[in-house]
This record gives sequence, C-alpha cells and structure tokens, in this order.
Amino acid sequence: MACETFEENASRYFVCLRGVSPAKPKPCAYCGKPSTRLCDGPKGNGTCDRPMCDECTKRVGDTDYCHKHQQQSLF
Ligand SMILES: [Zn+2]
Ligand SMILES: [Zn+2]
Repeated sequence: MACETFEENASRYFVCLRGVSPAKPKPCAYCGKPSTRLCDGPKGNGTCDRPMCDECTKRVGDTDYCHKHQQQSLF
C-alpha cells in the first residue's frame, strides 16, 4: 500500500491510496483494460493464461475461458 504523510498545522495526516496494487495487471487481450483473470483453457502442459477483463472472459463455473477456448468448450 502506498502511504504518504502530510504535516499541516501541527497535525499529521496519513494518506493511503487504496486499491492500487504495486504490480500492474496485464492488459486484457481483447480490449486492453486491466485484466482481472486468466484463461484456464488447456494449452500444452499448462493453461492458456491469456489475460482478460471481466467483460471479455467467458466464465463457466469456476473456470474462465478466452474467446478461443470458449468456442472449443461449446462443442
Ligand atoms: Zn476486455
Ligand atoms: Zn484460452
């Protein structure tokens, strides 16, 4: 958390920026917004891990799919 201290009129203020994570999330692979989830579709020996925002992901149960794996999961 990023906190700054201000002193004014013999009073001390702490200002903390909330909701700011030190590591910026990767941009969504589709719209460029900060990603909030990764594709859980299979890729090689691991998962696809394509970064996506809430609006671009397809959530099935506890699993998130990118557009490519979303199509595969429908068939
Ligand atoms: Zn998006
Ligand atoms: Zn995927």
